[in-house]
Amino acid sequence: MSTPLTTVPADGDALRHKYAEERSKRLRADGNAQFHHLGDERLKDPFTPVVEREPITDHVTFTFIGGGFAGLLAGARVHEAGVTDVRIIDTAGDFGGTWYWNRYPGVMCDTPALVYLPLLEETGYMPTQKWVQGPEIFEHCRRIGRQFGLYDNALFHTKVEQVIWEEEHSRWLVITNRGDRFTTSFLGMGLGPLCVPKLPGVPGIEDFAGASFHTSRWNYDYTGGAPDGAPLHNLADKRVAVIGTGATGVQVVPKLARDAGELFVFQRTPSGIGVRDNAPIDPEWFQSIATPGWQQRLQDNYVASWEGIFGRPGPDIEVENLVGDTGFYPIAQRIRSAIHSVPPEEFSLERMMDAVGSVDDAAMEEIRARVGRIVEDGETAARLQPWYRQLCKRPCFHDEYLPSFNRPNTHLIDTNGKGVERITPRGVVANGIEYDVDCIIYASGFEHALTTLRSLTFEVIGRDKVSLAHEWADGTKTLHGMHVHSFPNLFIVQLAQAAFFGLNATSGWNDTAITIGTIVDHAVRNGYTEVENTQEAQDAWVEMHLTQGASWGADECTPGYYNMEGQQADPSIVGYPAGTAAFFAYIDQWRSSGEFENLKFS
Ligand code: NDP
Repeated sequence: MSTPLTTVPADGDALRHKYAEERSKRLRADGNAQFHHLGDERLKDPFTPVVEREPITDHVTFTFIGGGFAGLLAGARVHEAGVTDVRIIDTAGDFGGTWYWNRYPGVMCDTPALVYLPLLEETGYMPTQKWVQGPEIFEHCRRIGRQFGLYDNALFHTKVEQVIWEEEHSRWLVITNRGDRFTTSFLGMGLGPLCVPKLPGVPGIEDFAGASFHTSRWNYDYTGGAPDGAPLHNLADKRVAVIGTGATGVQVVPKLARDAGELFVFQRTPSGIGVRDNAPIDPEWFQSIATPGWQQRLQDNYVASWEGIFGRPGPDIEVENLVGDTGFYPIAQRIRSAIHSVPPEEFSLERMMDAVGSVDDAAMEEIRARVGRIVEDGETAARLQPWYRQLCKRPCFHDEYLPSFNRPNTHLIDTNGKGVERITPRGVVANGIEYDVDCIIYASGFEHALTTLRSLTFEVIGRDKVSLAHEWADGTKTLHGMHVHSFPNLFIVQLAQAAFFGLNATSGWNDTAITIGTIVDHAVRNGYTEVENTQEAQDAWVEMHLTQGASWGADECTPGYYNMEGQQADPSIVGYPAGTAAFFAYIDQWRSSGEFENLKFS
């Protein structure tokens, strides 16, 4: 049923004014500091019991801190290079990282599975659908762990407390909360850009008398059901609140709407919801494309589809949509076409931004119109409409989220940009009204650790007792995003000063893992015990990023984790100026030359 919505004239200025008005409702002086930490009790692992074990005091060649895709890929690539004593450490009870923790009903990945799931060719696994559910991704993580022998030495439910470079032995000492004190020749870390869950910055959270948990620590004992979407049968007679309508909220709401007695969805900013249109992967089609090197080809193609769209005119390339992505790919294609619609002789930043602005306006108009076509109640539909540029927030794609609001048990509590006010022993207060509920589910997101320091919960002490926190106190400083002078034999897998937002995060992790495997192989084969980048090369690399780095360009956006909640961005957290594909090409050439320019082996 079609619903008349609040309309803003299609005229660009009126729209821009509306966007600015909506943004100003949400700007807060406390920015990122508004959020609360979960605390130890809420962070506990609800999925796997902690097993007592003896402390470890041995030596391994390669250790990686973090058992998500970054660690799995690094472990696999080092293993492929012939180093089999690999140890991965994680605070979780298994591999998987984000896919270990995020088991909320409805969890899935919005990036096409054929490019997102790494090592498909190596493991011979064909995903079941174009976009797959969380449990299938988690199982793939375990598959990689098994295939590359990574379980043998793994330390789960283990938190690193300190790593110290032992100069006299050319190795790292690793100290953990389980009493471990072991050494390792090479050390990697990939702590994840979104791994520290946060709670809304409102008072009273600890006063609530009912059940409550963050989506990354789902309490199935309370709700019933399972991560595969099985009915949450214990909620049938419950009044449930969900706070947050980002990518997680959008995936979880349909399952809660289906199963809860009453559902109250507390919204501060609506997400833009595009079409999902998921489908099984056809095995015959898959066989036809799965010729040697197929996954790298698809991944390169997918990364290329996003190049040159962040406010700089990249090459005017027509990138074929090999995986048939109806989500992110068309967004990139639209923006690139707009950039190149400006005749070269008339090209200016202003003209380009105008062209991009008008395709963006049309795209968002369609997103808003879709709400009207699906949501039957006019007022609810109006409140679900997003008023910002498409890339200001993470675009979402879902076909069941909006219809959830047509269910009589599901109530949208829009807060007009202000957020919920407080939690009481009985429920949630928003717009001055207290909503009594039995359970509160926090879909309130994660600290966006663009800089590794934000997720670094342990000390890294390098040469001459210098700490990484001290070295990076005034900004991230690396060579290639992964080496840091004074920290020999250390590889950091992160976003800044490297591939950054290359559309598919696992392509970046994989590329870095290949680099790590190549360097470790070179060192071990040639009997080198130390590898470290030069200070000069690092300074030049940082300088290039500070002066030419491509910023996310989200300063005028509605606040969110993309733009540090509307605060000043750290200028050192930028991607390789020429883009992700160019970074991959540069590193590939650097690796394959065998000279490892600017690294010193000894
Ligand atoms: P987000 O940070 O995107 O969303 C948090 C939500 O909590 C927002 O809607 C936010 O509102 C809301 N919120 C915060 N404080 C309050 C408050 N006081 N009152 C009411 N609402 C509040 O976290 P998500 O977990 O949803 O997503 C994080 C990221 O994780 C995604 O962007 C994506 O990158 C990744 N993800 C990826 C998936 C995938 O498909 N691969 C699936 C799910 C997540 P506001 O918007 O106003 O800040």
